[in-house]
Amino acid sequence: MKIAVIDNDKITVKNVDNLKLEGQRGAIVKVLGCGLCGSDIVKFVHKISKNGTVLGHEIVAEIVDINSDTDFKIGDEIVTSHHIPCGECDYCKHGNVSMCNHFKSTNIKPGGFSEYVYLSEEHLKNVAHLKPKNLTDVEASFYEPLGCIVRAIKRADLIENDTALVVGLGSIGILTAQALKAYGYNVIGCDLIKERIEFLKSLDIEAYDVRELPEDFKAHGIFMTSGADKAIDTALKFVRNGGKILVFSSTPSDTAAYPNNEIYYRELTVLGSYSPSPDDLKDSLDLLKEGKVKVNGISTEYSLEDIDKAFKDTMANKIMKAYIKL
Ligand SMILES: [Zn+2]
Ligand SMILES: [Zn+2]
Repeated sequence: MKIAVIDNDKITVKNVDNLKLEGQRGAIVKVLGCGLCGSDIVKFVHKISKNGTVLGHEIVAEIVDINSDTDFKIGDEIVTSHHIPCGECDYCKHGNVSMCNHFKSTNIKPGGFSEYVYLSEEHLKNVAHLKPKNLTDVEASFYEPLGCIVRAIKRADLIENDTALVVGLGSIGILTAQALKAYGYNVIGCDLIKERIEFLKSLDIEAYDVRELPEDFKAHGIFMTSGADKAIDTALKFVRNGGKILVFSSTPSDTAAYPNNEIYYRELTVLGSYSPSPDDLKDSLDLLKEGKVKVNGISTEYSLEDIDKAFKDTMANKIMKAYIKL
C-alpha cells in the first residue's frame, strides 16, 4: 500500500506492506480521503515529527476488514478521530480530556495519509461513526476539525446572544464563525485577507478587515484562530472588560504573551482549547449533518502523489485547506 511520509523538507510517497488484522480486534479501513490539518503543518515545519512519520488524522474511510463487538461491518463508510481519552484519570475527571496520557498515546496507524489504516476496537467504540448519507466525503472529513471547534465554543461558555469575534478567517475561522452562530451567538469575523472576509460574508456572517473594525467595538468572547503574534493585540483591543479570549492556535514565537495587568485590571479570562472529546465529536457530526456548518468551497483536492504540493500550497496560503483524495 502507498503511504506518504515526512522526508526531511518534503513529503514523499512510498510503498509498504499491506496492513492485516491478524487476529487483532479493530478494523482495517481503506482511506477515501484525509484533510490536511494545521497541526500537520506545524509538526512538519517545526520538525516535531520524525522522518518516516505518516501525518493526517481527518479521515473518511471504508471498512474492508473487521473483528469487533460493535455493529460496524465491512463496506461501512465511516468518519473517525485519532485520540481517545481514558475517562478516569485526573485530567479526564476535570474535563481536560486532551491532556490525558491515554488520549495522547492513542492514534490511528500508520496515519491518515495512507491507503489503509488500522483502527483499534477503542476507536470503533468511542470516536468512529457512520458517515451521514447526506454528506460528501470532503464534507465528512471536517468531523474532527469541527469537533475541536465545538470544544472551544463549549469551553468559552458564553451566554446566548453574546457577541463573539473570530480573529483569523482561515478554514478554522470560517468554521468557528458558523458554529458560533449555530450555538446562538452574534458573530463577527475579521482577517486581513479580502477573499476570506468576502467568503464569510457569503455565508451571511458579518466580517471586516481588522483595520476597519469600529474602534469602540467590543466582544464578550474572542476566538483566536489566527497564528500571528500581532493578533494578540487585536484580541486585547476588542475584548470587553470581563470578557474571554479563547486561544485556539499556536503563534510563531514562544514568548508571545497576554499581559498580566490587562488580565488583572480588566478581569479577563484567557483559556486554551486543544483537541475534542467523543461528545464534542458527536456534536460536530450533527452540525455537519444538519447543514448548520457549511464547508463547501473551503477545501482544495489533491491526489496522494501531489501531497507535497498540498503541504507547500497550504504553507504559502495559496489555499484555505487541502483534502487528500486517495
Ligand atoms: Zn485536525
Ligand atoms: Zn484520562
